[in-house]
Amino acid sequence: MDYDIVIIGAGVVGLAISAELSNSNSNILVIERHPSFGWETSSRNSEVIHSGIYYPENSLKTRLCIEGNRLLYDWCSKYNVPHKRLGKYIVAVDEEDLGNLHDLFLQGQKNGVADLKLISKQELRDAERYVKAEEAIYSPNTGIIDSHNLMQSFENYAVNHSVDIIYNHTLKNIVAIGGGYNLSIQSMDGDIFQISTNILINSAGLDSDKIAEMVGIDIDENNYRLHYCRGHYFKIAPNKMYLAKHLIYPAPAKNWIGLGIHITPDISGMLKLGPDTMYLPENIQDYSIPEDLKEKFYLSVKRFLPTLELDDLTPDQAGIRPKLQGPNDGFRDFVIKNEADLGFPNFINLIGIDSPGLTSCIAIAKYVSGIIN
Ligand SMILES: Cc1cc2nc3c(=O)[nH]c(=O)nc-3n(C[C@H](O)[C@H](O)[C@H](O)COP(=O)(O)OP(=O)(O)OC[C@H]3O[C@@H](n4cnc5c(N)ncnc54)[C@H](O)[C@@H]3O)c2cc1C
Repeated sequence: MDYDIVIIGAGVVGLAISAELSNSNSNILVIERHPSFGWETSSRNSEVIHSGIYYPENSLKTRLCIEGNRLLYDWCSKYNVPHKRLGKYIVAVDEEDLGNLHDLFLQGQKNGVADLKLISKQELRDAERYVKAEEAIYSPNTGIIDSHNLMQSFENYAVNHSVDIIYNHTLKNIVAIGGGYNLSIQSMDGDIFQISTNILINSAGLDSDKIAEMVGIDIDENNYRLHYCRGHYFKIAPNKMYLAKHLIYPAPAKNWIGLGIHITPDISGMLKLGPDTMYLPENIQDYSIPEDLKEKFYLSVKRFLPTLELDDLTPDQAGIRPKLQGPNDGFRDFVIKNEADLGFPNFINLIGIDSPGLTSCIAIAKYVSGIIN
């Protein structure tokens, strides 16, 4: 075989896996179709280090988020990745919110999230004078991170440990061969060449279902078909950056798909609002921001930030979640599987790695390392 391990995709997850596996003395290649890392979902998100409150107890999302939170803070300190353990307030404005907030607090406790606190209206006012709500959950271990620098640190680590990374190359086909996989790779100028590998890791984000299909897995039978769910962001004018110092989230409604339009300061203190949730009719990477969303964002955040004005908002960016959960479905967990049972040993699928994939990336990498035979 040409390689022991090939990883498809240089997003934050593929790069974290390459860094983790580079400690194993294996011969590793990462293939990425763009000119550099993180051109898709990994650079179009809230850059929040979550604490693991929202998802069902014992799900991979909860377990890998809680473990990933700790591992990510450790990594950032060790490799000087800009980050801040800012803390987050989840706020309840009315009676319905209060019920949802208390349910969420119980869920967080069941999940074993450390140091969560319910705080009063006055305590919230003392911490955030412009935020108005009846009660809040305080999560001190939620933070923010510079995701570009994080990916750069994984890439540096992997390359320094002899991992090969080829950019501008696209995986076009996979054939299972005895004890491994033969890959057809296309370069930018259209040339196709073949390489073989013992272990193939599908960390292709929005195209991970297509890569699973490429090897011969029936993605409908296995419930692996992705639904693209776009989230938009608006930024708040720089002269209003004093409006919030922490992450401020609304209490999530029942049957939520995202976490609700929230306020996120970035590393420089600038504030952005978002993301909302909009399922796209087709799985096409369309990152446009519809004009009419501005008012929706304004009204949704004004509920708990009453001094916000419509003119403070300008469109920022959009990102697309690779969701297994369709518009009318219940919770779906990350799929992280060695597909030996389907007849593809050491073909490792990572499908539906939406939030909290950034937070969980190092924990996901360790989990992947544990399921390779
Ligand atoms: C709006 C939004 C907000 C979010 N907020 C947060 C948050 O605050 N905190 C958090 O923890 N998570 C958040 N997430 C989730 C997080 O961004 C993702 O879980 C994470 O970025 C997924 O990384 P990835 O490496 O799996 O995918 P990607 O970043 O999409 O990387 C996959 C890579 O595979 C490459 N690729 C695909 N097919 C091929 C092919 N055939 N050949 C070669 N290369 C290929 C792509 O080009 C891409 O670079 C958010 C997501 C969205 C959309």
